[in-house]
Amino acid sequence: MPSADEFDLTLIRNVRPPGWVNPEPAGRYNLVVVGAGTAGLVTAAVASALGAKVALIERDRMGGDCLNVGCVPSKGIIRASRAWAEVRRATEFGLRIPDGAAVDFAAVMARMRRLRARISPADSADRYRRLGVDVFLGEGRFSGPRSIEVEGRRLTFSKAAVCTGGRAAAPAIPGLEDAGFLTNETVFGLTELPRRMAVIGAGPIGSELAQAFSRFGCRVALFERTGQILQREDVDAAATVAKRMKIEGVQIVLNAGLTGIQKRGKEKVVQYEINGGRMELGVDEILVAAGRTPNVEGLGLESAGVAYDPLNGVKVDSGLRTTNPRIFAAGDICSAFKFTHAADAQAQIVVQNALFPHPLGIGLASTETLIIPWCTYTDPELAHVGMYEAEARVKNLEVESFTFRLDEVDRAVLDGEEEGFARVHVRKGTDKILGATLVAAHAGEMIGELTLAMKAGAGLGTLTRTIHPYPTQAEVIRKVATAWRKTALTEGRKRILRRWFAWMR
Ligand SMILES: Cc1cc2nc3c(=O)[nH]c(=O)nc-3n(C[C@H](O)[C@H](O)[C@H](O)COP(=O)(O)OP(=O)(O)OC[C@H]3O[C@@H](n4cnc5c(N)ncnc54)[C@H](O)[C@@H]3O)c2cc1C
Repeated sequence: MPSADEFDLTLIRNVRPPGWVNPEPAGRYNLVVVGAGTAGLVTAAVASALGAKVALIERDRMGGDCLNVGCVPSKGIIRASRAWAEVRRATEFGLRIPDGAAVDFAAVMARMRRLRARISPADSADRYRRLGVDVFLGEGRFSGPRSIEVEGRRLTFSKAAVCTGGRAAAPAIPGLEDAGFLTNETVFGLTELPRRMAVIGAGPIGSELAQAFSRFGCRVALFERTGQILQREDVDAAATVAKRMKIEGVQIVLNAGLTGIQKRGKEKVVQYEINGGRMELGVDEILVAAGRTPNVEGLGLESAGVAYDPLNGVKVDSGLRTTNPRIFAAGDICSAFKFTHAADAQAQIVVQNALFPHPLGIGLASTETLIIPWCTYTDPELAHVGMYEAEARVKNLEVESFTFRLDEVDRAVLDGEEEGFARVHVRKGTDKILGATLVAAHAGEMIGELTLAMKAGAGLGTLTRTIHPYPTQAEVIRKVATAWRKTALTEGRKRILRRWFAWMR
């Protein structure tokens, strides 16, 4: 790990100010929030803006995973890896790049640290204090159903929110602990590019970082125990991303059973079984991205009467209430949707339900009405919203799916970004959108349109009539809607039209 540079010092000044003095607890709080990641920050800010007396407790860095060791640093370096991938394709665009162009990995990481520091004031302890929130830095631990302790102080509350997030799960692979490994908490501290890296787990985090590091020039092997990278996603969508990664040189090892890690000198040797055969691969670093573990330990949840399980975290109902009706939860600690924007949306629900309860439950906000899109920021990006086809079938919904390829969209061709497609699932015989997958260079920017359509109850019929600027890649959405409309032209309707035009002549 490097010693902190000016950017990290700025970051720390914002998110973990040295010498911070915790305030004197103020009587009983309307709301005490434990954890100042996205879920906790949004809960505290919204509640405080409404006039509630709020305390926010953070044991490490304000901003949580997203700012410090998640979305922000990963997207920072992914941007650099994309820029480099473009440079390497320069001749394709008719551009001549002088010899000697190279990746300066230390500079890539410095840029990321600079931008992370620049973004950090929004999550800073000082900003929250100015918002009127009592910010306590220290480990929070419930001491009863209506009280929590932090740094020797006891805070009492009317309502509380558990927003303690999660951390990288360490798979039980013999020798892994001894060999040492990186996680999202340490990988962004690298200043030298490893020559060879094994990435364990081909979910969104593993896939994004495998491609980025490979693009920088690291030889990356991506190990996945199932038969598909991004295993949750549409098969064709994941295959499109996997194909690009393989072309670029990522070694993707599917159905891999990791049997052990051995340290041989400076090398870490990954031992695995595939199709009954035993294999070995020597690497310099191992990045573990094999799922997340909720931060439930040491929180005193038992004394607060909050039920949890160590795998899935705090148990909540659709109103995000825990088994203690005064305590709520939001974000990665309780949700299957482990995204920053999901944590944000859940935080709003917690504020509504905690601060404006109704004895009959009238007006309670619910997670069931949330439509949560997501995106994996590989290149091409893979974004999704709503149901997958298989999911709809399990729910006994009759589904029709429409797909339109990006290589038939002019802008994608002109951009040299033709890999991908839009796929929309509708309820059979209707234009009602059940779900959609986009694979495109900027799928994350495009999925919002489909999310809005679903939220507003607008179907594919509306999307066919929505004018999109030409040429844009987002035209793929209107085109996939048009593919649906064509199916409305049944043989019967065609016959009527033929008669009409014959009569018109
Ligand atoms: C590498 C990576 C990339 C990601 N990229 C994206 C992305 O591009 N887009 C996206 O939407 N999501 C992304 N995510 C997921 C996103 O970071 C999380 O969903 C989000 O941070 C969850 O917010 P949270 O508030 O629930 O939890 P966290 O951000 O984990 O915050 C929880 C906070 O609680 C604190 N805490 C825990 N226990 C205690 C205690 N006892 N007392 C006091 N404080 C405590 C922790 O220190 C932490 O600060 C990424 C995650 C990773 C790891």
